[in-house]
Amino acid sequence: MNSNYKSLVQIAAGIKDGSLKAVDVLEEHIARIDARESEIHAFNKLTLDDARANAARIDADAAAGRPLSPLAGVPIALKDNMCTRGVETTCSSKMLANWKPPYDGTVVRKLNEAGATIVGKTNLDEFAMGSSTENSAFGPTRNPLDTSRVPGGSSGGSAAAVAAGFAAASLGSDTGGSIRQPAALCGVVGVKPTYGYVSRYGLVAFASSLDQIGPFTHTVEDAAVLLDAIAGHDPMDSTSIPEALPALAPLVGADADLKIEGLRVGRITDMPEGAAPDVLERLEAAFKALADRGAEIVDVQVPAMTYGLTAYYLIAPAEASSNLARYDGVRYGMRVEAADTNAMYGATRAEGFGEEVERRIMIGTYALSAGYYDAYYGKALKVRRLIADDFAKAYAKADVLLTPTSPTTAFPFGAKTSDPLTMYLCDVFTIPTNLAGHAAMSVPFGNGADGLPIGVQILAPALGEPVMFRAAAALEKAVQA
Ligand code: GLN
Repeated sequence: MNSNYKSLVQIAAGIKDGSLKAVDVLEEHIARIDARESEIHAFNKLTLDDARANAARIDADAAAGRPLSPLAGVPIALKDNMCTRGVETTCSSKMLANWKPPYDGTVVRKLNEAGATIVGKTNLDEFAMGSSTENSAFGPTRNPLDTSRVPGGSSGGSAAAVAAGFAAASLGSDTGGSIRQPAALCGVVGVKPTYGYVSRYGLVAFASSLDQIGPFTHTVEDAAVLLDAIAGHDPMDSTSIPEALPALAPLVGADADLKIEGLRVGRITDMPEGAAPDVLERLEAAFKALADRGAEIVDVQVPAMTYGLTAYYLIAPAEASSNLARYDGVRYGMRVEAADTNAMYGATRAEGFGEEVERRIMIGTYALSAGYYDAYYGKALKVRRLIADDFAKAYAKADVLLTPTSPTTAFPFGAKTSDPLTMYLCDVFTIPTNLAGHAAMSVPFGNGADGLPIGVQILAPALGEPVMFRAAAALEKAVQA
């Protein structure tokens, strides 16, 4: 973590014990936004008037001795596919350029109730489809660590906002890797919780059987605190997990026992290929760091993992083609007038969607159409089942698995835009967990040959967050040592 920055935990504690003022913390972040946002473009929209009002209210509460909520005064940024009442929620699409939701998503409500200061809405690949944030209709986000490189995607703005010190933490969404991959490329922590861990009420849907919301933070403990604040059952999202979830923060806090003796860490011997040598070197270093601390490294096989990418690029577009049917020029966002209703639908959708979104809608519509359904969508669902079964066998032998998060460090702008498949391959290590519905996170673990950060991915079974966070904290400690 950049030593100029304060962690979420430091900010929250400082405001509570009176050593920090919420307005000063906010102004520190705004100063960094003023200095670099025009170059980075992490945000589609800043909400600094509301942010300043919230910070002043927190300081007044503190001065009056009123009890403060857990995230009181912590500056947080939201991916611009999360509904904020009365504030533009664009999904970085022309289709929703001026759309203001009439309600707050559940995560937004929870952050507000926890006292967080929302600083703005962050840039993304249009409708969260992409791995570089180059698919935004409003222009790309730059990687704060090297502005000639992409920040990853699709939650590139949320990752960049934390890496640049514009916010202490942020939220993203992860359908196939969109939290973990940009976290890796920007050198921050990113978590995709178990499917159903966090309510998606008010998250604009991409692929509903895969989408999850999760945090970007500087530290593992910050991620645990923020995830605890947004997690839990929500009657507005029928896929949210009904059981009570254990608090994660106490497991990785300053007083936590971080011993990992006997932890079984799985090495996937038939992992998909494609990781660069420097990425594989850092993965080896991560295995060694955990082994040095008493973990047991065990070999496991996940043969169906190799087919994850193919299955995902049928299932996710199929669901997207259905979810995005609602943008018809009538119910939401833009409309292009035309002679009759059908022509209006066509003109609106042709004008409102970018190329990648159109490609996904066409693939998905094809995969679901009569005569092709069994051969494509149906088969992809069978592969999805195999992936879940293979992971279940691996988790009989191992508590967590380690893989690279991204095959490479941050790449230059334009490097992968001419061939969609090379862009899709960015997510070869992250996608299988989304298909299985399991927990996963990326932790920064040193740098590559080009000096840019490399993330190690920790995979855990469904509701394996406690053990995943303990392994993450051990890796974080090792890299600081
Ligand atoms: N890069 C993947 C895609 O384009 C994953 C995106 C995501 O997780 N939202 O679909």
